[in-house]
Amino acid sequence: MSDQKRSVAILTSGGDCAGMNAAVATAVKMALYRGCNTYVVREGYEGLVKGNGDAELGGQADANAKYLNDIPLSYNCGDFFRLGDFDGGDSSLSHRYIVQIGWDDVRGWSQMGGTLIGTARCKEFREREGRRKAAYNLIRNGIDSLVVCGGDGSLTGADILRTEWPELVAELRDIGKITDKQAERFIHLHIAGLVGSIDNDLTCTELTIGASTALQRICESLNSISSTASSHSRAFVVEVMGRHCGWLALMAGIASGADYVFIPERPPPDDWRHDLKEKLLKTREQGKRKSIVVVAEGAIDCELEPITSDMVATELRDLHLDTRVTTLGHTQRGGSPDANDRILATLQAIDALEALMEDAPGKPSYIIGITQGRVKRLPLRESIAHNNLLPEAIKEKRFSDAMKLRGKEFHDGIKTFLYNSIQMDGEALSDEPLTIGIMHVGAPAGGINAAARTAVRFCLHHGHTPLLIQNGFKGLIKGQIDKAKWLRVDSWASSGGSELGINRLLPDTDFSGILSEARHNYAPFRIPMIVLPATLSNNLPLNEGITLTRMDEDLNEKASSVYKASFISDIFGKEGGEIFDSRYERLSHQLQGDTPSPLDRVEASRLAVKCCEFLEKHAGSACAWDPPSAMITIRQGEIQITPVAQMVEHADFAYRRGDEKWWSACEQYVDIISGRLSI
Ligand code: ADP
Repeated sequence: MSDQKRSVAILTSGGDCAGMNAAVATAVKMALYRGCNTYVVREGYEGLVKGNGDAELGGQADANAKYLNDIPLSYNCGDFFRLGDFDGGDSSLSHRYIVQIGWDDVRGWSQMGGTLIGTARCKEFREREGRRKAAYNLIRNGIDSLVVCGGDGSLTGADILRTEWPELVAELRDIGKITDKQAERFIHLHIAGLVGSIDNDLTCTELTIGASTALQRICESLNSISSTASSHSRAFVVEVMGRHCGWLALMAGIASGADYVFIPERPPPDDWRHDLKEKLLKTREQGKRKSIVVVAEGAIDCELEPITSDMVATELRDLHLDTRVTTLGHTQRGGSPDANDRILATLQAIDALEALMEDAPGKPSYIIGITQGRVKRLPLRESIAHNNLLPEAIKEKRFSDAMKLRGKEFHDGIKTFLYNSIQMDGEALSDEPLTIGIMHVGAPAGGINAAARTAVRFCLHHGHTPLLIQNGFKGLIKGQIDKAKWLRVDSWASSGGSELGINRLLPDTDFSGILSEARHNYAPFRIPMIVLPATLSNNLPLNEGITLTRMDEDLNEKASSVYKASFISDIFGKEGGEIFDSRYERLSHQLQGDTPSPLDRVEASRLAVKCCEFLEKHAGSACAWDPPSAMITIRQGEIQITPVAQMVEHADFAYRRGDEKWWSACEQYVDIISGRLSI
């Protein structure tokens, strides 16, 4: 890192999405924490191109601020951004696009939807002249570091600006717009990208900021549509956003139990009209009263001709189904970000700032993405180039390449959807039909009904007999078991709680007492068994995920026998005196209730397929003394099958968690962005 005090600007560009504010707020706080002059650019690249006109230049206000000691709390931008109305706020700011910002200005932003600093699509920035103006405005305001949060277009723009930067600086010097000294000082632009897009359409990252919330909004709408569809026995064709990416449509299809989906990466068979009608009729024959078809806005057939929701509706009307078309539109973008997007945006913005601080001439610029469940820096140039391969593959009808480029989870998603729907072709019935028991054990966790639904449908596709065991081990002992039919589990895709009934009774008091241990005494237990991890505590040994658990550590009743949340609240109340009051609220069983998040439902379904495949694979060893008994674990984004005995070795039973605190790297950052270290 050079000794020169850095000046960082943050902008949001292109289509807005939930989580952008969390990204901006975190980037601002991290930049301030690292002792930088910190700016936001309003209205994306438009703001960079327009700059501040003749307004007074910023950049000097904190020339003497030192690392950590003088974090500027506020530049009085306050209500200006909060109002989201640039004319109604501080009018002296309304014609300025590059605004210095402080810690207080971004308080409370993380839970707010859209982007408070504004975004725009800027034609001028696509031209070299526009980018030269942008370079001039950055230099004029003393800014040497830029964070861009946007989709593939915005990040392409960032990459072009970075590539052209040295030439732009030289030109500005040659025409006398900047001094030689400025040209020397700003010879390098530090740049980092954050992927904000509801479409989840970048091939370099598993999940973009905003996609999870958009999926949530879509699934909420699909839930509402489902109930009216069922009441009137209607068919609904629902068009969802996603441009050329089918992620939203596919995941919404899985999470809401749709009957058919159309996505660009995997066009339907040539005779899709016939296929669609035949399959929907089959679901009606099973007794279904409603039909839901999800169409991605970029859906195409094998000849690349668009498949529109109206075309689909025409086919359904042919079946004499009372058919309605709904285009969800902009509601998909909006609203408060879900927890997933807040965390993703926060963790990625932290890393974006760290990448900026470590950047130096000659080093690559990075996009911050997520691969194998971990925040990861990806080279900006190569990532953008890689992303262009997908539209090319589709254009050349190389659909299997397009699927590969979308990644393993997308591929698993297709399989999961097909198992759940009637849209499955060519699946052979198993030569060795099995009888598979499905049971919920412990406490309810979001997604367990979706998992059971998928397991039942998988069994039926392969000719196995799915048995539903009610009320956990208690029901198993009492023989509360019945055969599952296709329709019985239909509404389970999105339901909360446990449709099977659940209780905590275990056959023995500790983990080693599970069924596999009893095999030596009871022959019927000598069958393969598998556990699908489902707990809201995210505490299972050998399982990793992305989560910030510091709050949990601090306020969890088990964190300390003395420093309980109620006690800490009392201390705050006492010390707050006249200034603030304190109350204690304990979130407990409500965490287990209501509708599970769509991503939980999708993941649960995906894991259920893996469980069933495991049981099929090991069914041959059913008579052996020691058939496998395993648990699914997820490590670095990879699904693994781990013997239960090995998992037990890694369990910390006293604290009911795994022995590895994989999330501890996040702890220092929680302290920074909560302001704890600054105080
Ligand atoms: P998104 O970032 O959501 O994909 P767009 O594709 O509309 O949205 O891009 C947002 C902005 O990024 C554009 O309005 C433009 O200013 C800039 N941009 C996009 N593509 C380019 C490009 N090839 N060259 C320069 N700027 C670009």
